Amino acid sequence: MAKKPMKPKQSFKGKPQSQSKPKGENKTAGEKILIFKPGMTAADVAQGLQITNAMIIKKLMMLGIMTSVNEVLDRDTIELLALEEGFKIQDEVITDLARYDEMEIVDNEEDMVSRPPIVTVMGHVDHGKTTLLDTIRKSRVVAGEAGGITQHIGAYQVVRNGKKITFIDTPGHAAFTEMRVRGAKVTDMVVLVVAADDGVMPQTIEALDHAKAANLPIIVAVNKMDKRDANPDHVMTELSNYGLVPEKWGGSTPYVMISALKNEGITELLDVIELIAEIDEYKANPKRPARGTVIEAFLDRGRGPVATLIVETGTLKIGDNIVVGNTYGKIRTMQDDLKRRYTEAEPSQPIEITGLNEVPQAGDIFMVFDDEKTVRSIAEERQSRQREGELKAAKKTTLDSMLGDLDAQEKELNIIIKGDVQGSIEALRGLLEKIDIQGLHVNVVRGGVGAITENDIILAQASKAIIIGFNVRPAMNVKQMADSLGVEIRLYNIIYRVQEDIEAALKGMLEPVFEEVVIGQAEVRETFKVSKIGTIAGCMVTDGVIRRESLVRLIREGIVVYEGKLASLKRFKDDAKEVRTGFECGLSIENFNDIKIGDIIEASQMKEVEVK
Ligand code: GDP
Repeated sequence: MAKKPMKPKQSFKGKPQSQSKPKGENKTAGEKILIFKPGMTAADVAQGLQITNAMIIKKLMMLGIMTSVNEVLDRDTIELLALEEGFKIQDEVITDLARYDEMEIVDNEEDMVSRPPIVTVMGHVDHGKTTLLDTIRKSRVVAGEAGGITQHIGAYQVVRNGKKITFIDTPGHAAFTEMRVRGAKVTDMVVLVVAADDGVMPQTIEALDHAKAANLPIIVAVNKMDKRDANPDHVMTELSNYGLVPEKWGGSTPYVMISALKNEGITELLDVIELIAEIDEYKANPKRPARGTVIEAFLDRGRGPVATLIVETGTLKIGDNIVVGNTYGKIRTMQDDLKRRYTEAEPSQPIEITGLNEVPQAGDIFMVFDDEKTVRSIAEERQSRQREGELKAAKKTTLDSMLGDLDAQEKELNIIIKGDVQGSIEALRGLLEKIDIQGLHVNVVRGGVGAITENDIILAQASKAIIIGFNVRPAMNVKQMADSLGVEIRLYNIIYRVQEDIEAALKGMLEPVFEEVVIGQAEVRETFKVSKIGTIAGCMVTDGVIRRESLVRLIREGIVVYEGKLASLKRFKDDAKEVRTGFECGLSIENFNDIKIGDIIEASQMKEVEVK
């Protein structure tokens, strides 16, 4: 079959579904437009151009293309056909998320070039990850630039023997796997840092599990070798039990003895990294629109949303239209960890960008598209999907808590947390979700970096949540919207204040807890039987007070004979609200007539007690 080959540079895989409009056709004021979708068949095009299938086959033949109606046509051919029929071709705006996600650009082999390895450093806390990352970074930057290396940085690149290596700090082991599950290919190998004086610890195993699950090569860096109690053999023995058998013991795991603090063994470590990179040969296509992952993101007071991205493939450029998770924008600035400016970022390069309209989340995948309309529609569609999901979750919890109310008196306070950095949001979430006041607890329906937006207000209203702004504030219009919808926004800059306030709010939400308190006693001195009413007891209040609304117990010879409510309480002929010690009264008990002289009537009341 002499079908014209697909456009050589790149093509789209994945079957687009038709939207509500008739396939490929759309008309605006006199102009005939054919909506182009990747994967369109000859039959689809015929339908769009309002001609028969036979006609399109004939037209294709005239173009020298022998094909069937079910064959997929490339964009150029479709454009030619459309022009002939007086149609303008327009690219479809991709709004459907599922379709967008399955759309995978196929790279041409000749466009693939080698890219630097991306190395993730993992390990137990305090075993020296940060020190190692700092040491490598400092030793590799040109003197004079080292001054820039003070603040924390999630990712950087070093140049060694003319070759680059990208290092990233794990955002936490679980976050690493989460990123992977979401489809991010953020790393090529793992350096597992284990302190020689401490050995294998829980997070060492955790890191190991995550690295193994990702099927990544692992290099063990046995750190703190400068310490007197360093015991590398112990580390190797322990890790051998987990399948990391050292090369020198006949296994396949490279071990490097280092002191991150004293800058010893670092060269060897980098050698091993280079060696693995040479063997595995990582490649990417710099000629396509960039795609990659967010390593970290925060809201900068001056610059707005800032994100550190790592480019997996393609080349990211200033001015690119980019979708990042639920947010989008146009790349305004790009800089590296030393604040050096770039106009382009190539595969494996970590780069800090500005220009997004909101703060994305670590682990979000980014993709570049040709036009702004596409990125906006994808981001908006994702936002509304997220909102739907959150709403469902929030509704479910309200329902859950309603059900809970019936049996366990369980209640929840829905909260949305917005903050300037992911760290404080996570800290707050942890603190708040731990609060448990007699079965009441906090349910964080959304936690995100960035300003409080209209989106947050909508969710808050729907889920009856309150919004907590930590070091962030709502814009004027957002504030007004919240006010008019009765959504509560609370702003804080100290974490423990949030905790205190929320605890107080939860106490306010608690059903008051009541306790029964005995308020008085009366002795039955006489009884009268009155038809229709029943037994009336003539009593003397001997202690405290008897109130009309009291609960009463009838006690006979020390035994509670009956518990119930008063049916009447009288002083002489008049109804009385209460009768105090030393006074006589007449009373009757609801649904109970077996009152005898000498019985004791004990009155009690439910009293609200403060919840601790
Ligand atoms: P992280 O929690 O894994 O990032 O660990 P850090 O890099 O913060 O290191 C924890 C502590 O170990 C710090 O006090 C470091 O100075 C110290 N440390 C790190 N590497 C070495 C080393 O090679 N030798 C010694 N003696 N101390 C080290």
